[in-house]
Amino acid sequence: MSIEPDASPPSLKSRIHGSLLGGALGDSLGYTVEFDTIEQIRARYGAAGLRGFEDLTGTSHFSDDTQMTLYTVDALVEALEWANSGVGADVNACLWLAYLRWLATQGETAPPSAPVPQPRWIDGQQVLRQRRHPGKACISGLATGEMGTAARPVNPGSKGCGTVMRSAPFGLIPHITPDAVYKLSADAASLTHGHPSARQSAGTFSFLIHRLVAGDGLAEAATRALAQAAGLDGVAPELPERLEAAFLLAGKGIVTPEELVQALGEGWVAEEAFAVALYAVLASLPDGAAADPVQHFRDAVALAINHSGDSDSTGSIAGNILGAYYGEACLPPEWLASLEGQDVIRGMADQLVKVTTGEG
Ligand SMILES: [Mg+2]
Repeated sequence: MSIEPDASPPSLKSRIHGSLLGGALGDSLGYTVEFDTIEQIRARYGAAGLRGFEDLTGTSHFSDDTQMTLYTVDALVEALEWANSGVGADVNACLWLAYLRWLATQGETAPPSAPVPQPRWIDGQQVLRQRRHPGKACISGLATGEMGTAARPVNPGSKGCGTVMRSAPFGLIPHITPDAVYKLSADAASLTHGHPSARQSAGTFSFLIHRLVAGDGLAEAATRALAQAAGLDGVAPELPERLEAAFLLAGKGIVTPEELVQALGEGWVAEEAFAVALYAVLASLPDGAAADPVQHFRDAVALAINHSGDSDSTGSIAGNILGAYYGEACLPPEWLASLEGQDVIRGMADQLVKVTTGEG
């Protein structure tokens, strides 16, 4: 299929489903090679690496990236449900409680001083109650039982990509200001990670998703995100530096996995994961009106996961971006057919659609 320049933009519902499912597809494919070097990936899948679910011999699973993204959705749904019923809720407290419920799904306990949240629909979904190499800082930050803030951070030196990879949903809420999107996301990052780049990378990623949902093109939204990152107060220099490097590298087109890692890093930390995913999306951007969103999605995810770094998070972030931009039109149907838990992901997407639009 093709998207013509005058085609109507995707609906919010399509963008929400597209971003959450797109992230889960990138996460699932990337998770199969998360701890492999590029040499090991080539040895197993050939010179071009892992190109899609059709290359897999067994079943695949999504990982903590998708789990935590869905818990972000759940927290935002809860806060919006309170708001719709006329009660102001502390959004960051809803996020903390949701992430504490996620912590419990990982077989971890918070100290008795931490609140014991009431279970919600998401907590009964067995497909999410699996331990898939969760990020260490996400676990340890929540397991303190302390609600981390920018002023009183938990894990003060941590900037692992566990903040960025869970933060697309902040950008999927319509009718809030870009500044509010940024602040909600950055404050939620501080619940587990204290380094400024963790806050800034998560907030800027959510801002990028917000711009796409508002109708920006990919390059336009990325340019705005870079400007946003460069203009932040007390900016950690590594975020704008890595995003700038992603732009420069995308200008060269498709590079080798070795060159990608050399220029942008392996993606284990927040700004690198964001930069690798952004590069993958921009470098594989097709020319012209006959562009095929499905092919773009396939190419971008393959570029995002085939390297020696943190392939599930970089794949997840790239999938979130493309799904927010194209809506569901970019999701390869045969990949979706192989995705576990699609009903649960769509169930959470529908909750967000319903609470933001009244549809459904
Ligand atoms: Mg993961």
